Amino acid sequence: MLLDNWWYSIPRKQKNTPSRRRKAKEIEVEERKHLQTPQVQVTREKTTKKTSTKRKTGRSKKHDIDKLFEEAYEPMLALLSLTDDLSLPEETSKQIVREIVEMIASEYSSKPSIDAILKKAKRNIRVLYEYVVSKLLETLDKPTPEQLEYIVSHGSKTLIPEIGKLYRLALTYKREDLIEQLRHIWNTHGPKGMVECPKCKFNAITPENSCSVCGHVVTEEYIRRALSFTDKFELYVKTASVAELNEVLRYGYVLVGEKGVYYPRSPRARLENNVVYPIYLISSEISKITEEINSRELQV
Ligand SMILES: [Zn+2]
Repeated sequence: MLLDNWWYSIPRKQKNTPSRRRKAKEIEVEERKHLQTPQVQVTREKTTKKTSTKRKTGRSKKHDIDKLFEEAYEPMLALLSLTDDLSLPEETSKQIVREIVEMIASEYSSKPSIDAILKKAKRNIRVLYEYVVSKLLETLDKPTPEQLEYIVSHGSKTLIPEIGKLYRLALTYKREDLIEQLRHIWNTHGPKGMVECPKCKFNAITPENSCSVCGHVVTEEYIRRALSFTDKFELYVKTASVAELNEVLRYGYVLVGEKGVYYPRSPRARLENNVVYPIYLISSEISKITEEINSRELQV
């Protein structure tokens, strides 16, 4: 789940984290244990007593979080640009802010100041934006135009699995500007090496010749042209081994990717390309292969 992982992707200053300091202290106490004289033991008992009264119970910790949440709620909404015009359900924005406050507070051994919470949130704002967007995608069935704008502007790579749904929504709202942003996000963070869809212009045509964003289906002729198949095929026929060419004849098709043409079972095809498309050979191409095989056998 995203919630379990997001926090760990935030770069932190390891040196000064309280948890580190605490750990160092624990080690120190542990080391002292071995060197104890009876007098030292007395003082240690005293200090343990002191800390045990200080240790927070579950209930008082919850009380701390409640207080922090109350204080942080409004400034955190402003920080995350969760403005009123988004008309988010109050329950959703409260849940989001509470989870963020809890996450940040869990990094401290004692109750942090509201300032510390907000500073940390500010430092990690990009990750928090993506977190907020993932929560919105989870909870909002049909985002409004304003909500969609927020999602598209702040979601970055979080949007990849939902790109089709968001594209259709932007299309319904006639928001070409958001479609442009989605296209940029997909082409930056999405799978590489896919052929551009003639309808939505995302690089999203799958090896089944359909668009993974808008669902449009293209012809094999379109793939051939998009990947300059003819040139790559000519080169392939000249350089492939006779065994490979015979295999192509047996199967009746080749694979084509950005880097070139390959026989159907070629392990290199997937190593050199993120995506490869099957292309069924037409009779003139089959004759070309047969001629090539014959010419090589004559040379032997
Ligand atoms: Zn498309």
